[in-house]
Amino acid sequence: MTTNSQLTVAVRIRPLNDIEKQRKSIQCVHPLDNQEEVHAATTAPLMDFVVAGYNATVFAYGPTGSGKTYTMVGQEKRPGLMMLLTRDLYEKINPHEFTVYLSYLEIYNEVIRDLLNPNAGVLDLLEDERGNVQVPGLSRVKAPNTSRIMQILQEGNSRRTQEPTAANKNSSRSHALLQVTLYKNSVQHGKLFLIDLAGSERASQTQNRGKRLKEGAAINRSLLALGNVINALSTGSKGRYVNYRDSKLTRLLKDSLGGNSKTCMIAHVTPSSFNYDETYNTLVYANRAKNITTRIAQNRPASADQQYVEAIKEMQKDALRKSN
Ligand code: ADP
Ligand code: MG
Repeated sequence: MTTNSQLTVAVRIRPLNDIEKQRKSIQCVHPLDNQEEVHAATTAPLMDFVVAGYNATVFAYGPTGSGKTYTMVGQEKRPGLMMLLTRDLYEKINPHEFTVYLSYLEIYNEVIRDLLNPNAGVLDLLEDERGNVQVPGLSRVKAPNTSRIMQILQEGNSRRTQEPTAANKNSSRSHALLQVTLYKNSVQHGKLFLIDLAGSERASQTQNRGKRLKEGAAINRSLLALGNVINALSTGSKGRYVNYRDSKLTRLLKDSLGGNSKTCMIAHVTPSSFNYDETYNTLVYANRAKNITTRIAQNRPASADQQYVEAIKEMQKDALRKSN
């Protein structure tokens, strides 16, 4: 694991599964972890940040079957980061002062759907005049306590698009984004994005055909765009051009990757000799991501930005008067 002030990159290795054991896979590394340990080492420090009015993002990267959903969602007896982080959030806030809202969406073949409202249809992305990316029509659910959160997450997860591929019978072909928004005395305060990405494997390796192959292409488009963004950000050169516009995923993650957020990327690999190529590719990706450098700022109320715009307008008027 490496960390700088804004970004943490970690690698999580899952245990060998039954099929790998049956086929006598060589276990290349031995994971020693549980959900709480992973949380403590990677994401726990983010919560103080969100409560202080900043944004944070956690994303799980890796091929299908490497443990992304296990890390983010987990199981009832072994809850994942979505639960552990929101649980921590409740421990840190005064419920009379703060309100927590959840939104949960899926990007499947570049189409956005609301996982908490199946009747919402296809949703779009819009950028407001301040450059904030919004998803109009996305539902927001008030989450008063952790047991309600687990219920909301289960409901949302049951609606995720899952299709069998050769690599994994429950392969998630979609990106799932949980947004936890904290309001302080009714003003938006801090925001936490928790993202379970679709599998990063290449289409050929899952023997995808037809519909599956089309999904593969769209998934790769989003992940390719994400890779390009990470590449551009990690070079660290001034005046670099970062193209967020190539996919829905990168448009939504613009803030998280390029600016106003503390980010934690957990790359997932298996310990099995069968997955050598995917493990190698994932580690190369994670290695590149750890070179990202971003600036970070506290969220400011809209009125502060408005004052700034007014001040710039005054300066421009002043300059015009002087030049005439
Ligand atoms: P992905 O979301 O990357 O496709 P999953 O999270 O669905 O992968 O994991 C694949 C399988 O491996 C699941 O059955 C899951 O329960 C199991 N698994 C993954 N990571 C771990 C882990 N760290 N410990 C125990 N089981 C795990
Ligand atoms: Mg998954």
